[in-house]
Amino acid sequence: LIELHGVNKHFGALHVLRDIELTVGRGEVVVIIGPSGGGKSTLIRTINRLETVQSGSIVVDGRPLPAEGKELARLRAEVGMVFQSFNLFAHRTVVANVMLGQTKVRRRGKQDAERRALELLDRVGLADQAGKFPAQLSGGQQQRVAIARALAMDPQVMLFDEPTSALDPEMINEVLEVMRQLAQEGMTMVVVTHEMGFARSAANRVVFMADGRIVEDRPPEEFFSAPESERAKDFLSKIL
Ligand code: ATP
Ligand code: MG
Repeated sequence: LIELHGVNKHFGALHVLRDIELTVGRGEVVVIIGPSGGGKSTLIRTINRLETVQSGSIVVDGRPLPAEGKELARLRAEVGMVFQSFNLFAHRTVVANVMLGQTKVRRRGKQDAERRALELLDRVGLADQAGKFPAQLSGGQQQRVAIARALAMDPQVMLFDEPTSALDPEMINEVLEVMRQLAQEGMTMVVVTHEMGFARSAANRVVFMADGRIVEDRPPEEFFSAPESERAKDFLSKIL
């Protein structure tokens, strides 16, 4: 579903992505881990062209990612994204937040959009919060709204960049639980996270990135029990 070949990205003199080769098949859950500054966010952002790259090819759903224009907007709608900060619209209710992209981008009618929004809010355990404003919700609840909003576009793939790292510890699990559920339902997911429990239980593959390179790309049971590279051994010894 997603294929990156020979992708290189520079920020000025800084070479942040080096010869990236990454394939994510339909229904696969890939967790990206690695030290800070290694390029994880940049990599995930290249998948829907929030970042441009200097060389290499990025193919989403069989089509090369266009640089701009209508075709890019269309492909972006297939890729849901959830960030560390929830970026909900503060002056709109929860249900309105989940409806907005549907009416603007997917051009659904208001009733359809509302029905779908309520269905998704129910799925993330927030059916009773639909009429509130974001500031009236906890961080974990806001992040679940952000997930519902992304899902409302019916994306083919969901990208997550440290979705739980801004949350208080007791709220992390409610968000991970929603993500686990999505994974079980067969959603294609690329997830940057420090939650190793999630990586172990939900990922098909762990991609370890350091210094702009993919150093390891293996099933979690192999990666955690027997990392091959010194970089990964060192990283794991610090976080586990
Ligand atoms: P973290 O775990 O801290 O989130 P990361 O693995 O996500 O780190 P990136 O955010 O992808 O790392 O950053 C990779 C490198 O690119 C870092 O050295 C960072 O300082 C640099 N970088 C990221 N964004 C920009 C930018 N917009 N302009 C210049 N340099 C940038
Ligand atoms: Mg990052």
